[in-house]
Amino acid sequence: MRSSLRCSILGFLLCLSLSGTGFGSAYNARPKLVVIVVIDQFRGDYLERYRDQWGEGGFRLLLDHGADFTDCNYDYANTRTAPGHATLLTGAYSNGHGIMANEWWDPAKKRMVGSVEDDATKLVGISSGIGASPHNLLADTLGDELKLATQGKARVFGISLKDRAAILPAGFAGDGAYWIDPRTGTWITSTYYRSELPKWAQDFNNSKRLEKYLNLEWKDSNGEVLRTTKPGEGKAGSFFELVGSTPFANDYEFEFARELITYEKLGSGPATDLLIVSLSANDILGHQVGPDSAEMQAMALAMDRQLAGFFEFLGHQMGLANVWIALSADHGIAPLPTVAARMHLPTAGFSSEKMKAQVNSALSARFSHSAEYVKDIDYPLAWVNPEAFAAVKMKEGDAERAVGEALKQAGLRAYYTRSQLEHGDVPNDEAGLKYLHSYSPLGGWYVFGVPVPYTIGITSGTDHASPYTYDTHIPLAFYGLPFQAGTYRTHAEPADLAVTLASLLGINAPSHAIGRVLTEALAPPRRVPGSARGGEREERSAPDVERRGFRPAAGSATDPANKMVAVKKADRTLAEGAR
Ligand SMILES: [Zn+2]
Repeated sequence: MRSSLRCSILGFLLCLSLSGTGFGSAYNARPKLVVIVVIDQFRGDYLERYRDQWGEGGFRLLLDHGADFTDCNYDYANTRTAPGHATLLTGAYSNGHGIMANEWWDPAKKRMVGSVEDDATKLVGISSGIGASPHNLLADTLGDELKLATQGKARVFGISLKDRAAILPAGFAGDGAYWIDPRTGTWITSTYYRSELPKWAQDFNNSKRLEKYLNLEWKDSNGEVLRTTKPGEGKAGSFFELVGSTPFANDYEFEFARELITYEKLGSGPATDLLIVSLSANDILGHQVGPDSAEMQAMALAMDRQLAGFFEFLGHQMGLANVWIALSADHGIAPLPTVAARMHLPTAGFSSEKMKAQVNSALSARFSHSAEYVKDIDYPLAWVNPEAFAAVKMKEGDAERAVGEALKQAGLRAYYTRSQLEHGDVPNDEAGLKYLHSYSPLGGWYVFGVPVPYTIGITSGTDHASPYTYDTHIPLAFYGLPFQAGTYRTHAEPADLAVTLASLLGINAPSHAIGRVLTEALAPPRRVPGSARGGEREERSAPDVERRGFRPAAGSATDPANKMVAVKKADRTLAEGAR
């Protein structure tokens, strides 16, 4: 009797304590703003590689004062920009959100179409061009759920230098997505969102800010000039290439982000707002010089300072205690073939164009009928031409297998066909699941070639698009009151980002989400006297490291050494993957 009374009192106290946690509620603007920073092409190992060179307040805000997941990998094979951004915000893979490539062959239009290209819309901010929208998404996003939960009171924006990296994260219900016209650098949007740019964005474009990024010298810490943004001089003339491959592009994006936050009054409404900032410069440079170059290191160090400045701005605007920050990336990158070869790794840079010609000539010989059986190869993915196969009376399954065999002849290790993936007909192993996760009904007939590790489909620079860790391993880190600071080496996936944030905001996870809530990184709930909103970080109890499978950074007094609890990979069946 007495013990049951004690139990109910304890239960009551537990309820009291839970009511005052640092966990949020999007319904009454706790937190005021969630910022998701997606770095385009940023491998998970960079955070550790340059750890001793990060300054205060940038990456270290997340590494030292946030929850850092060191072992986060995409569990699919199609590690490209559009799928990566869609995955982060839908909490699903391509078999859920439908975006399996940056562009695909459209059998009706008989041409490659972009993942966000939308004939029903027009660009806004420049005079011409097919517009863009999230119309190809087959799942909704974190922002959509936030809008639904708050009857539209939450405000959701996405920005990037690239259309797909701004639009897909902002979802269907986003209040705005902004990206640049690649040629001029002017910020634009689409009639999907609005018929003209808001005044603040027009003013931004008219303020000659763009010009101040031209004719600059990018120097490393020793004062060596790495690049200039001087037009001409034999370089590509577009703003995207010229400024985009330097840290100045991130400055330009952060300037725009600050204006957006200020003029759209993010963080001051009745519900939690959401901003996704996708930083494109790393990707543009990384393709050219590879992950192990001095330039990429300088870019990362510059980004560290830029993030510190942006986080400081957020602190001034609304107080960092009112902001949650998540940091991740859309994919990694392979080493340059020359670098991999130096380490005696088997490596090659194929020409996708030559491979396409080789495959088409092999199939033409095999069927004694000359045709363009493959329309395009975005290595290692091949887009198949149904009309060419119709002429030799072949149906999809056989046609795709024929292409797959020709791809193997051309140097691919194996293949998965679209029709095979559609029926979930793959070996019951990890690789099979990765390719099931890469499936989408969009894009006609196609074949995923399985590349030999360290091979890429271009002959200069490097690329990503493989199922291997150099492409799948990316950072995943959170900063904010609900998170228990620490380094977490438990299994994590990009799909966990949206699911974790949705849970903490008290809203539904996105429609097709399969990620898990990263509970090991959540601060223990504690009531803080005199504060309805929960307390500051230092008011929390020390983490129960053993129970949580939590591993503090090396050197910590509470380092549990070998006590880390192995967290089993989330129970995911092939049946789920085949949806
Ligand atoms: Zn990318």
